[in-house]
Amino acid sequence: MPSKRVAPRPLPGGRGPEAGTCAPAGDPLPYAARRAAVAAGLDERKLDAMLVSALPNVRYLTGFTGSNGMVLVHRGGAVLFTDPRYAIQASRECDCRVKVSGGPMLPDVAAAAARHRFRRIGFERARVTYDAVETLRTRLPLRASLEPVAVWIERLRMVKSAGEIARLRRSAETNCRAFEAAARRARAGMRESDLAAEIEYRMRRLGAEKPAFETIVTAGARSALPHGSPTAAVLQPRDLVMVDMGAFQDGYASDMTRMLYVGTPGPKVKRLYAAVREAQQAALDTVRAGIAAGAVDRAARRVLESHGLGARFVHSTGHGLGLEIHEPPRLGKGEKLVLEEGMAVTVEPGAYLAGFGGVRIEDTVVVTARGCEVLTPTPKELRTL
Ligand code: ZN
Ligand code: ZN
Repeated sequence: MPSKRVAPRPLPGGRGPEAGTCAPAGDPLPYAARRAAVAAGLDERKLDAMLVSALPNVRYLTGFTGSNGMVLVHRGGAVLFTDPRYAIQASRECDCRVKVSGGPMLPDVAAAAARHRFRRIGFERARVTYDAVETLRTRLPLRASLEPVAVWIERLRMVKSAGEIARLRRSAETNCRAFEAAARRARAGMRESDLAAEIEYRMRRLGAEKPAFETIVTAGARSALPHGSPTAAVLQPRDLVMVDMGAFQDGYASDMTRMLYVGTPGPKVKRLYAAVREAQQAALDTVRAGIAAGAVDRAARRVLESHGLGARFVHSTGHGLGLEIHEPPRLGKGEKLVLEEGMAVTVEPGAYLAGFGGVRIEDTVVVTARGCEVLTPTPKELRTL
């Protein structure tokens, strides 16, 4: 139902490649409140402290952007552990205590836990190596135990604050502008890797820190690889070209897939494209707060099935994104998680025909009470070169 959708916002500011990228990202993010939410959740998990070691989760709780750090959250506060390379940076970025370890950090974590007499310490079971757990275990007092915890901070991260949505919006705008600048230069004879390089160069020039993932540019039959890497293969007449790209800007990811076609598409390409477009629209029309994530997937799948393409849609319809390019919720088959206002997800059905080519169309959207706001307003007509 189209009324459920919020119309896409036009891109603000100039259309030039370097336009509008230098303004500050928006409100500071509420790190202390986030840590307080974790501290408040210790009781129900019967924990004295939670050791958060996945870097995106560490960043979410402290603002720390370095490549080596973990944060121990407890009822009395929090301490970020890092190494001397990040001493200055951490003191600038973090509003909690910072402990700079001269050597490996884990002995210092264990020492802090022992000093506080923590008995039950949570750790992120999907994010920690066996080695790290063993190291901690051998250094903790005998009466202390390490408790595996699953997707706790990730769940807190699912619903984005206004400041985070502002960052996601900017990241998506940069991504859309980079696509436009690169697509203008795309032509037959260009290598997939050239177009991917152009895209990544443009996004950096426009304000992104880096691509959010390895840019996908696949031409011709290779576009049937849902997750193909760009190669030296050249864009040729009658090629479908899949461009799946995303940026990290101010730490936040964007994600968008658009299709190019070299020449004038024939009926088979047109049919395939129209079917995926219809499926993507059906999925977008289904997104709103209160609906199960699986319902969005079902909407896309049903359309592709009606076109005989059900078996060619080999992945889920979308995924959450934020500080990571893939994070909960997943918009997959049978997913019961209920979408909430402020969740950021992609909507990206596709159909892949081996030996012929594939089509995927992907937008990044924010869930609203009555629908969704599309952050990637790049037109969805099949763009011809
Ligand atoms: Zn993508
Ligand atoms: Zn995606």
